[in-house]
Amino acid sequence: RTKQRGRHGYTLFNHELRRNQADQLALEAELRHALENRHELVPYYQAIVDSHSGKLAGFETLVRWHHPQRGLIAPGVFLPMAEESGLILKLDRYMIEHACAQLAQWYGSGRIDHAVCLHINLSSAHFHDPGLVGWLQELMQRHALPVGTLHLEITESALIDVPDVAIEVMRQLKERGICLALDDFGTGYSALSYLHRYHFDVLKIDQAFVRDIHCHEESSAIVRAILALAAALGLDVVAEGVETMLQVQTLRQLGCPRLQGYYFARPAPAAELDWPRLAGMQQELAHAGDG
Ligand code: C2E
Ligand code: MG
Ligand code: MG
Ligand code: MG
Repeated sequence: RTKQRGRHGYTLFNHELRRNQADQLALEAELRHALENRHELVPYYQAIVDSHSGKLAGFETLVRWHHPQRGLIAPGVFLPMAEESGLILKLDRYMIEHACAQLAQWYGSGRIDHAVCLHINLSSAHFHDPGLVGWLQELMQRHALPVGTLHLEITESALIDVPDVAIEVMRQLKERGICLALDDFGTGYSALSYLHRYHFDVLKIDQAFVRDIHCHEESSAIVRAILALAAALGLDVVAEGVETMLQVQTLRQLGCPRLQGYYFARPAPAAELDWPRLAGMQQELAHAGDG
C-alpha cells in the first residue's frame, strides 16, 4: 500500500482514502451515538396528495439528522454508511416506531382519518431480519393501526440482489395488512416480473421522469407506460418530485392518481406541518380545472 511507485498519484489517493475512511468512521461513531441520544434523528413528513381531489392521501416519512456540531444532515450523506455498518436496521426501526406513534396520535385526535396512510422507507437489509414481521405486527396492534394504513417503500435497485427470502418476508407483510410500495420506479433496471412476484401495491415514479416530463419526450413516454402498466396490474401510482403546476396538470391529464413534491409541501417535522396548506390543496386543484 505504501509502494514507492505510488509516491505521487497512488499515495495521495491513499491519503485521501484514509481521510475519507476516518471521516466515515467518525460519522459512524456519531450515528451510533445519535441512535442512543435519539432526539438527534428526526422524522420529517412529506404530504402525498390525491391528484383528482387534491385531498391529503398520505405522508412519507424521511429521516433527518440534527447533528449537534455538523448541523442538519440529509439522508444521502449518512444512509450509505448506515447500510454498510448495519446501523440502518436500528435507524429504520426507530423511524418506524416514531412515525407509527405519530400516525396513531393524528388518528386519535381526529387530525386525519384512516384514508390517510403512512409511507416509510425500508432498507432491503431488513429482509434478513427474521424478527421484522412480528415486530411490525406488534407495533400496529399497540397503536391500533388499521390494515392498509402502513406502506413500506422499498427501492427498485434494492431488489436486484435480494434473495428469495425477501419474497417470503414481503408475503408475510402483506398477510398482515401492510402495503408495499416500489420506490424510485424506472431507475433500478428491475425486470417487470418483479412487480408480480413481490406483490407490490404501489409504484412510485422516480422524480427524474417527473422533472423531465416537459423537456424529454422519453420521460413522458415512460410515465405514460408506467401508468398503463400500473392500471393493467391494478396498482396505485405516486409521482415523486412534483415541483410545478405544469407538472401537476400534465400528471393529472395522464391520469396519475397520486402526487408528491415540493409543489405541495416540503418534508417537515410533525410540529411544523402546514395543516391549512394541506387542507387548501383541494381548492387549489379544483381551481386548476382538469388541467
Ligand atoms: P425517496 O424515498 O425516493 O424520497 C424522496 C426524496 O426526494 C426525499 O429526499 C425528498 O426530500 C425528496 N423530494 C421530495 N419532493 C421533492 C421535490 O419536489 N423535488 C426534489 N428535488 N426532491 C424532492 P431525502 O429526504 O433526501 O431522502 C433521500 C432518500 O433517502 C429517500 O429517497 C430514501 O430512499 C432514503 N431515506 C430517507 N429516509 C429514510 C429512512 O428513514 N430509512 C431508509 N431506509 N431510507 C430513507
Ligand atoms: Mg421513499
Ligand atoms: Mg423515491
Ligand atoms: Mg430515492
